[in-house]
Amino acid sequence: MSERKEVLGVQGAKTPHWVGDGFPVRSVLPSQRFPNLSPFLMLDYASPYKFEPSKRPRGVGEHPHRGFETVTISYQGSVDHRDSGGNAGTINAGDVQWMTAGSGVIHEEMHSKEFAEKGGDFEMVQLWVNLPAKDKMSKPGYQAIVSEQIPRVELGTGAYARIIAGELNGVKGPAATFTPMNVFDVRMEAGGSGELSLPAGHNAAVVLLRGEVTVNGAALAGEAQLAALSPLGERLLLEAKEPSLVLILSGEPINEPVASYGPFVMNTEEEIRQAFADYQAGRMGRVA
Ligand code: MN
Repeated sequence: MSERKEVLGVQGAKTPHWVGDGFPVRSVLPSQRFPNLSPFLMLDYASPYKFEPSKRPRGVGEHPHRGFETVTISYQGSVDHRDSGGNAGTINAGDVQWMTAGSGVIHEEMHSKEFAEKGGDFEMVQLWVNLPAKDKMSKPGYQAIVSEQIPRVELGTGAYARIIAGELNGVKGPAATFTPMNVFDVRMEAGGSGELSLPAGHNAAVVLLRGEVTVNGAALAGEAQLAALSPLGERLLLEAKEPSLVLILSGEPINEPVASYGPFVMNTEEEIRQAFADYQAGRMGRVA
């Protein structure tokens, strides 16, 4: 039997804030207490929020990104995306959009027209994943992953994982990544429990989006709670007291300097200045 992972600590929920007028989020990452979760840079959770019908879709207008990837996971509601690479699509409940900003993308992220007109419950995650220096200026890319492409792995009783990226028990997720990582969307019933293994040596975290669980004995309850895990050991035991939504992240650390400012994540301050200059000069293109 492999060793259990130690829970290094639990970070409680932060105060919510709005991203644009469409995303009421709590930031789970970056974490001052647990800064070493490379390659994972940022995680915003928009917990269930009921939007009234609106003729004008809410969201975030045109803005740039460079040097990393944005991963949008929809739990409820739909987001329309358009970008400077000419890509456009709708991320519906259960779908994942894995966008490689690379050398530069300008995009907008809005509630879909249909969702805005009808209104309803909205719940979403956006995760930012860093790129190694050699890939930061790679060609922008876009993976539209629909719900049906994401395989499920039973973890035990009343618990299963949707494998978005990486691999569990020989089942591979559809997302192509630049560095080795696992992103699992775990759904648990009240009283459910499950076990899984993560690779030793990965930075790893369990994020309780909502519900009440224990992770190797450590208790998490409420919304947007982060349990940081030791890179040592492999085994993880999850037990749910309430119906729970959990995101499991593990990844090989990128041991390079991080210079980050707003929508750009590079390795040096000079590269950040260059990103602003390129954006302002129109060198990242335009939303089609
Ligand atoms: Mn964005």
